[in-house]
Amino acid sequence: MSSNIAITTTKNSRLEGIDFSNLAFGRSFSDHMFVVDYAEKQWVNPRIVPFESFMIHPSAMALHYGQAIFEGMKASKNKDGKACLFRPELHARRINASARRMSMPEFPEELFLEGLQQLVALDSGWIPPQEGSALYIRPFMFATDGSFGVRPSDRYTFMIFTGPVGPYYAEPVKLKAETHFVRAVPGGTGEAKAAGNYAGALLPTELAKQEGFDQVMWLDGHEFRYVQEVGTMNIFFVIDGKVVTPATDGAILKGITRATILEILREKGIPVEERKLDIHELIAAHEQGTLQEAWGAGTAAVIAPIASITYQGQLIPLPSADKFAIGNAMKDTINGLRSGRVADTHNWVVVVN
Ligand SMILES: *Cc1c(COP(=O)(O)O)cnc(C)c1O
Repeated sequence: MSSNIAITTTKNSRLEGIDFSNLAFGRSFSDHMFVVDYAEKQWVNPRIVPFESFMIHPSAMALHYGQAIFEGMKASKNKDGKACLFRPELHARRINASARRMSMPEFPEELFLEGLQQLVALDSGWIPPQEGSALYIRPFMFATDGSFGVRPSDRYTFMIFTGPVGPYYAEPVKLKAETHFVRAVPGGTGEAKAAGNYAGALLPTELAKQEGFDQVMWLDGHEFRYVQEVGTMNIFFVIDGKVVTPATDGAILKGITRATILEILREKGIPVEERKLDIHELIAAHEQGTLQEAWGAGTAAVIAPIASITYQGQLIPLPSADKFAIGNAMKDTINGLRSGRVADTHNWVVVVN
């Protein structure tokens, strides 16, 4: 497959101008991007080209009917200075699960991995050196047919670009348990990493911020009782020594960080439960003094500690985040796997050559 990817390198690398100690999240872009077109039921013309803007038809279907999906992943450097990816094959598989839900074509997993590796190898100078910093990687796919008839598009573009990001210092967040807006329902699109899911979450999040909260905790859309996620992360609690996370039910994004944490915990013999989690159970646990930890889990922050949850005006405070023994251990383990400090017994880390 490698010989198929045509590479045009930039003549004007922007790497010299980058200050790795001062990176605003999501604003720096590396020199190159990977692009593949889909037409006549085939993925064609895989290429790596200089990062740049491109033309799009005003009626491109992604802009109107939202056939747009993405992934978020990170490359880091191990202790030998080699670029490393974390479980990239799961991202290749998940974008295809998203594609199926949005009536988009699947993207060949080998080409995803090959394009990703070649792109990261070419721009490996953009990987920030400090542990916790990373090269953020954004694979995405969108519909390009210029047509305003409602139907699945016939043409698509798949791309990957990257950009360096600094360490993510996650201050403990104050959450509003959302009892009016819904992120996703079983049978909807919540399990797909679809652009539209994010658009729908912006207004509730803005309103919560106006009320003094940092983020929204999503509840189920039928009874507004069962916990789903926090912002754009999966959510974990430690209640009386047991780790509890909501079971994926079609409305919850199947996070790769979530899966990784569950695997590590089960191996260590720490009790974990994937099940329905009623907000009233959290209130009761708080009252009994057994609500020990709460944190979000996702690629960007790894672990984002939660300071408090407010449900219909009722405050559920958490102990201070430095006491989150399990959450902090998970963050340290996952960052350590990425940097090579923790032994990778599962072959989760893929070294880019
Ligand atoms: C991407 C995402 C997550 C986290 O997934 P990771 O694979 O761990 O990064 C969780 N929830 C939502 C809604 C997401 O979009």
